[in-house]
Amino acid sequence: MPASADVVEDIDTIRTQIREFLESAPKPPGLRNYGPTPTAADVEPGQKWHRYLADRGYTCLHWPPEFGGADASVAYQAVFAEECARAGVPRQLNITGADLVGPVLIKFGSPEQKTRYLDGIRLGDDVWTQLFSEPGAGSDLAGVRTRAERTESGWRVDGQKVWSSAAASADYGLLLARTGPDKHRDLSMFIVPMSLSGVTVRPLTQMDGESKFNEVFLDGVELGDEALIGEVGQGWAVAMVTLGRERLTLGTQAVAMFRLHEQMVAAARSRDLLDPVLSRSLTRLWTRMWLLRFTWQRAIDAGDLASPAFSVLKLMTSETDRDLGDMATEVLGTDACVDPAGSGDAADLVHHMLVGRAQTILGGTSEIQRNILGERVLGLPKEPR
Ligand SMILES: Cc1cc2nc3c(=O)[nH]c(=O)nc-3n(C[C@H](O)[C@H](O)[C@H](O)COP(=O)(O)OP(=O)(O)OC[C@H]3O[C@@H](n4cnc5c(N)ncnc54)[C@H](O)[C@@H]3O)c2cc1C
Repeated sequence: MPASADVVEDIDTIRTQIREFLESAPKPPGLRNYGPTPTAADVEPGQKWHRYLADRGYTCLHWPPEFGGADASVAYQAVFAEECARAGVPRQLNITGADLVGPVLIKFGSPEQKTRYLDGIRLGDDVWTQLFSEPGAGSDLAGVRTRAERTESGWRVDGQKVWSSAAASADYGLLLARTGPDKHRDLSMFIVPMSLSGVTVRPLTQMDGESKFNEVFLDGVELGDEALIGEVGQGWAVAMVTLGRERLTLGTQAVAMFRLHEQMVAAARSRDLLDPVLSRSLTRLWTRMWLLRFTWQRAIDAGDLASPAFSVLKLMTSETDRDLGDMATEVLGTDACVDPAGSGDAADLVHHMLVGRAQTILGGTSEIQRNILGERVLGLPKEPR
C-alpha cells in the first residue's frame, strides 16, 4: 500500500514492492503503455487497469487521504511512475483527471463538485479533457477568446478549443473561458459535460497516425451555475494549479530513453551501421541521459516540486528525448521510411521519433521554458511585450 509522507521511506524497498506488484498484476486484454493520453481504443483497457490500481490504493497518490489519495511523497510518486514505465503499463487512465482536475477541485471546488466528480476520477470511471488551448492561445494562454456569458439560469459558452487530448472519449471538460475584457482577471473555469448540446468534437490525426488530439467547438453551450469552479474571475489562479504535474513523470521518460537507446544500438548493429561517427553520437546521448537521470534523482530527493531544477529538467529531458528519437534516421538507414503504425524495430523507432516532437511543446514549449528560466531564475531582462 502507498506510504504517506510522514513515514520515513526506504525507497529501495518501496521500489521492489511496487515492481513485484506491477509484475504480478493481471493486465486487461489490449492494455499498452499509451502514455498520458489514451486513444479511443485504449479507454476500455485503460479504465479496467485504472480500476485495478484504484482498488489497491495506487491511483491519485498525491491527493489527500480524505478524498481517497495517499498523500504520498514526491519520491514515492516518482518511483511509482518510473516502475509503471518499466513494466510497460500506464499509471492511470489519463493525466487530465487525476493530475489536473482532481487538485483543482480539491483546492477550489464546492463541496457538491467534490462529491460529484472526485470519485469518478479516482476510480477511473470518467475521462476528462483539458479545454485550455485555442488556435490563438497556447503559449500565451491568457489570450483565450472562448466566451462565457451570463444568462438568467447560468452561462452560455461560445468558442473553439484545440489540442484537447482525449476529448473524443471524454465525459467532462475543464474549460478556461473569458468572462470579461481584462486579460488575466476576467478568466473563469468551468466544468463542461461533453455530451451537452452545442459541444462538437473533431478528432485530429497526428503524424504518427494516432488520434489523441481534438478540436472542440462550443456553440451556445448552456451551463448551470454549478458548473463554475471557484469564483468568477478566478480562472487564471485555477489554471496555474494545473501546471507542473508532468514534472513528476520526467523520470519515466528517462526509463524509456534508456530502453530506446538500447534499441537504437541494436538496430544500427544489425544493419552494420555502427561506424565511429554514429558510435560517438550514441555515446554522447547516453552521457546526457545519465546526467539527466542523476539530476532528476537529486531533485526528487529534495522533494520540492517548485524547485527550478524541475524547469531545467523539463527543458533538457524533452530535448534529449527528441534528439534521441531523431537518431532513428541514422540507425535505420533506408529502413527509416517505414509506416510508423506497422510492427518491427524500424516502425517502433520511427514512431518514437515522431511522438518525440511533442515533448518540447507540451506543458510549455522549450522557448517558453527558456524565457522563464532566464527571467525568473537568472534574473535576466524580461522579454519585450
Ligand atoms: C502532446 C500534447 C498534448 C496537449 N494536450 C493539450 C490538452 O489536453 N489541452 C490543451 O488545452 N492543450 C493541449 N496541448 C497544447 C499545448 O498546451 C500547446 O501546444 C502549447 O502551450 C504551445 O501552444 P501553441 O501550440 O499554440 O504554440 P504557440 O504558442 O503558437 O507557439 C508557436 C511557437 O512560437 C514560440 N513562442 C511563442 N511565444 C513565444 C515567446 N514569448 N518567446 C519565444 N518563443 C515563443 C513557441 O515556443 C513555439 O515554438 C497539448 C500539446 C501537446 C504537444
